[in-house]
Amino acid sequence: MNRRILFYIVLELLISLAVVSSITEDSENFVQSRKTRDALEEPTSKVNYTGNQIWKTKLINDQHKKVIMSLRNQGLIQTWGGNRTSLDILVNPINLNEVADTLRNNDILYNIIIDNLQQAIEDENPPITHDNEDRQGHRMTWNSYHRTSDIWGFIDYLAQTFPDFCKVFTIGQTHEKRDIKVLKISNGKVGNKAVWIDGGMHAREWISPAVVTYIINQLVYNLDNEPDYMQNIDYYIAPVMNPDGYEYSHTIDRIWRKNRRPNDPTLSGFKLCYGTDLNRNFGYKWGLGGTSKDPCDVTYGGTRPFSELESKAMKEFIQGTAANWKAYISFHSYGQYILYPWGYASAVTTDYKDLQNVAHKAGAAIRAAGGPTYTIGPAASTLYPAAGGSDDWAKGVVRMKYSYTIELRDDGRYGFVLPASYIQVTSKEALAAVRVIVEAASQA
Ligand SMILES: [Zn+2]
Repeated sequence: MNRRILFYIVLELLISLAVVSSITEDSENFVQSRKTRDALEEPTSKVNYTGNQIWKTKLINDQHKKVIMSLRNQGLIQTWGGNRTSLDILVNPINLNEVADTLRNNDILYNIIIDNLQQAIEDENPPITHDNEDRQGHRMTWNSYHRTSDIWGFIDYLAQTFPDFCKVFTIGQTHEKRDIKVLKISNGKVGNKAVWIDGGMHAREWISPAVVTYIINQLVYNLDNEPDYMQNIDYYIAPVMNPDGYEYSHTIDRIWRKNRRPNDPTLSGFKLCYGTDLNRNFGYKWGLGGTSKDPCDVTYGGTRPFSELESKAMKEFIQGTAANWKAYISFHSYGQYILYPWGYASAVTTDYKDLQNVAHKAGAAIRAAGGPTYTIGPAASTLYPAAGGSDDWAKGVVRMKYSYTIELRDDGRYGFVLPASYIQVTSKEALAAVRVIVEAASQA
């Protein structure tokens, strides 16, 4: 009897030991499998968005905004473009029902804008033909969205062909060792004022580098037909501020936004996440509002102002030249907005009326060029607060008087996947806006 009891006690002990060891083994496996999964979360082949949908939601009160933010925090949706009353969201096919129920239960109206994102991506960019390359000496067209190599090839060609007029500066390199280039276009007149134009800070906003290269093409080949105030300006133009992200949006993930530097995993529960939002990384009121401290978030502002190679290169170049800066124009998409500071909070500059007047003239010029209505206003109160933006830094630190962020087409029909057939119309209206801002800069 005693022996029997002893036997059971020993058996019990052995079993519990086995259970304990299997738990530890499991938890090790768990850690292991989490690691593998995190590694797998970084895709190596093109992300497929079949069945993903874009919905436009109407947000008319704070409760609505809370619901959307909660869906976003649970990973059920991603947010796209939006403003204070409406937000476009991306919904994964497995979450369609749950998200629809949540919206309905909270009286949030929505409609489906894109019912299959993958199809929209496939329809967006026709293949590039290089028929013109021999004749024009570069590969650039405004019928397709081009890769960074074509864009660098284009501005390098201009600098070689028109050395008295165009000069390329390589202002830095990215984490993946790509060049960041700026084209200076100048007739060399003493006393010219300087204007900075950039594009491609956010990887997925493909219309932005397309429009900026169109403006370059116009300034180089057609400047004689432009008014005098356009001719006597030093232009510094950076068509692709985020080449790593832009390339990644072509090769792996069409809707990637940030740059591609891996973040410190200890800041995010040992999850390895890539990229900083460059337009939250500039050093004026950095980190205040509308930016995330989570390295996995799409609006992650970095560990400190100018922590990123791209924003740092831009800062050092702009502050290192003797240029007489008067205007800053950053092209983004989408939503059709002309925005001026401040972005970090709902406040305006002391000279905001000057910026507002010029923005209204630019908006009128866009309509006169056949374009749609662009909404005008200070960034934070028109869209949402977002600290660390390049336009705030250009205004607040460099004192470029006319500092704008222009959100190009469209208003959400295609969002980030605007078909390439819209490049030329969007570029023409953007050029009309640039003329108005340059005229103001020339008189500032
Ligand atoms: Zn953007």
